[in-house]
Amino acid sequence: MSKRYRDTIATIGNTPLIRLNHASDETGCEILGKAEFMNPGGSVKDRAALGIVRDAEVRGELRPGGIIVEGTAGNTGIGLAVVGNCLGYETIIVMPDNQSQDKIDTLKSYGPRVELVPAVPLKDPNHFTKVSARIAAELNKEDPGSAIWANQFNNVANRDFHEQTTGPEIWEQTHGAVDAFICSVGTGGTLAGIARALKARKPEVQIGLADPTGSALYNYYKHGELKAEGGSISEGIGNSRITENLEGTPIDVPYQIPDSESIPLVYRMIRQEGLSLGGSSGVNVAGAIRLAKELGPGHVIVTILCDTAMRYRARLFNRKFLLERGLELPAWLDLD
Ligand code: PMP
Repeated sequence: MSKRYRDTIATIGNTPLIRLNHASDETGCEILGKAEFMNPGGSVKDRAALGIVRDAEVRGELRPGGIIVEGTAGNTGIGLAVVGNCLGYETIIVMPDNQSQDKIDTLKSYGPRVELVPAVPLKDPNHFTKVSARIAAELNKEDPGSAIWANQFNNVANRDFHEQTTGPEIWEQTHGAVDAFICSVGTGGTLAGIARALKARKPEVQIGLADPTGSALYNYYKHGELKAEGGSISEGIGNSRITENLEGTPIDVPYQIPDSESIPLVYRMIRQEGLSLGGSSGVNVAGAIRLAKELGPGHVIVTILCDTAMRYRARLFNRKFLLERGLELPAWLDLD
């Protein structure tokens, strides 16, 4: 039955779980995608944003009309702006300047203060996360209690929200028949929270990591060493460290997914499933297919459909951009 909602925030979560027919039929498994792109801010990060804001409110750290400051690849900023606009908080978002223009424009359309900073390694004092922490600290020095730093990488309110909502939703939507869950990691909140919720209900559930090339996490879980190789056009995923959100996640099967495997799946899902999704969803579905092949037919495998391809229009549908990276647009997608 269609429901009526009290406000926009009430529509965050409770997303559909969609059978990916081609991936399922090809592997003999049920491969199911949790449609997080259907959240009001258009991505899985609306959940982290709401979890972090609600937690800060409960702790008494966020006063009415207060300011939320965050460093983000974009989707968390959009989620925080959605939540902030709905609840009457200001948002200040610091973003690295190498992210797709479509995502930057979407973020700006919500009206936060947006600071674009050069994309530098984490150890650099001007890394976007550190700049955002400094802005929050300065605001609090001028006016104590005026701002919070969302700190999505290490603030476990992010993971907790997935443990309390996304995980139980997957459990109920599969009637407990889920055999495995796999997704990629940015902060790790999604994977860590869902893994905890599912393992608590069924310890034999297999947890997979789908890590893009350019990230150090695959090597860490496979060989015990944080080491990155290659690169990826996917955004919002991959990491060079174990965040507090990711720490202690029971990962059974790590995979490294190159763009040559994930990006063709992005186009295939548009054409064959009618699902327009971003690169991280391609990595996730590629991971689910690998896990299905490893587990064999008859298993129920769940992954995350994170955001839409329209957030990356200038890259995913740009023949020149793709060619320069050894990738190609399918012939049916003749945009030029
Ligand atoms: N996909 C996209 C498009 C994202 O923006 C993010 C978050 N950075 C993720 C996946 C990963 O989610 P998490 O931070 O929960 O690991």
